[in-house]
Amino acid sequence: MSGIRTLDGVDVAGKRVLVRGDLNVPVQDGRVTDTTRIDRLAPTVRELAGKKAKVVLLSHFGRPKGPDPKESLEQLVPTISKQLGLKVAFAGDCVGPEAESAVAALNDGEVLLLENLRFHKGEEKNEPDFVAGLAKLGDLYVDDAFSAAHRAHASISGITEKLPAYAGRGMEAELTALDKALGNPAHPVAALVGGAKISTKLDLLSNLVGKVDLLVLGGGMANTFLAARGVKMGKSLVEAEMLDQARAIETTAKAKGCTILLPVDALVAEKFGAGQTAETVSVNAIPDDRMMLDIGPASVEAVVAKLKTCKTIVWNGPMGAFEIPPFDTGTVAVARAVAGLTKDGTLVSIGGGGDTVAALGAAGVENDFTYISTAGGAFLEWMEGKVLPGVVPLMQ
Ligand code: AMP
Repeated sequence: MSGIRTLDGVDVAGKRVLVRGDLNVPVQDGRVTDTTRIDRLAPTVRELAGKKAKVVLLSHFGRPKGPDPKESLEQLVPTISKQLGLKVAFAGDCVGPEAESAVAALNDGEVLLLENLRFHKGEEKNEPDFVAGLAKLGDLYVDDAFSAAHRAHASISGITEKLPAYAGRGMEAELTALDKALGNPAHPVAALVGGAKISTKLDLLSNLVGKVDLLVLGGGMANTFLAARGVKMGKSLVEAEMLDQARAIETTAKAKGCTILLPVDALVAEKFGAGQTAETVSVNAIPDDRMMLDIGPASVEAVVAKLKTCKTIVWNGPMGAFEIPPFDTGTVAVARAVAGLTKDGTLVSIGGGGDTVAALGAAGVENDFTYISTAGGAFLEWMEGKVLPGVVPLMQ
């Protein structure tokens, strides 16, 4: 993507490079259960170490209220070292004398991890003294944590006012992918939005209708749109207080030339749970005592037919209550169709958001999309069209 300052051509040899990663990985019984975030940071760290920089890793971990051994980054050192294929030293603080002497002891090409940034309240409050303490440790700053880019914290925002700032390779890949989806996409562009509720995605929907040619709605939020069109939804999850907003989004979409595609059939059951008897009905024939828990096969067919005419798709939110089969059927079928069109080279596909990553993983397509963002809040804020405080300082 043009416009961002990347590591291309930057002379890092012998320099102390502060690398902001997102090492907030899931840990269970002392074991890292998903190394994706470490793996995405690895190319940047390896490149910098290979170019003989002194690499100083910064990250938050959990939501500690102050120093807390349970949320120490030290427990991650063996996993980080293994995934990077590099020896990783550790300092028990991220600012002050302990951090300063650990940085001073680094040789060119070595890697040091500093303790959890959130052990200091100055991190989240972006306090000048804390920013100065961090800036003292580096000559250059590299941000490789897109997933934290929606937060104006010291290690993301404040630091960029003190040190020359560059995008790491992971950040670069993320911004390039996002630009292909909504910044500068090949049209027609489709957005697939699902998930439980409209109320949590109002800003996102309002932004998308002005940008995409086709908006495919699924999940619980489609129920509310259907109800707003006068469809009887039985016991389905419907946000009664959101009907006017749903109608307003439809009106804006029409005015802006964005087609909204709603489900035409539904997989219904008495309640959401395992072992339920599910049946497919037209959305116009949902029984009073049943709830819509997934889109049906005719809806999948209609979505896939439309996607075949599109060049770009951006996806957030499952099409149904995918956690329990068979209510994952619609999500899996659409995900596999998108993966197929991507492999054929006719579609650029970008997916993101917490549940979406899990749903695409369950469909077995996590490696078949053009790009899947593991960022939760930052991905959603970007889809809402917001300016991210961690991205602006990296622009040229
Ligand atoms: P979100 O976090 O907003 O993306 O919502 C994801 C959640 O929406 C998942 O837990 C799904 O089970 C839920 N969901 C999707 N479709 C439906 C539906 N038709 N009825 C109830 N919940 C749904």
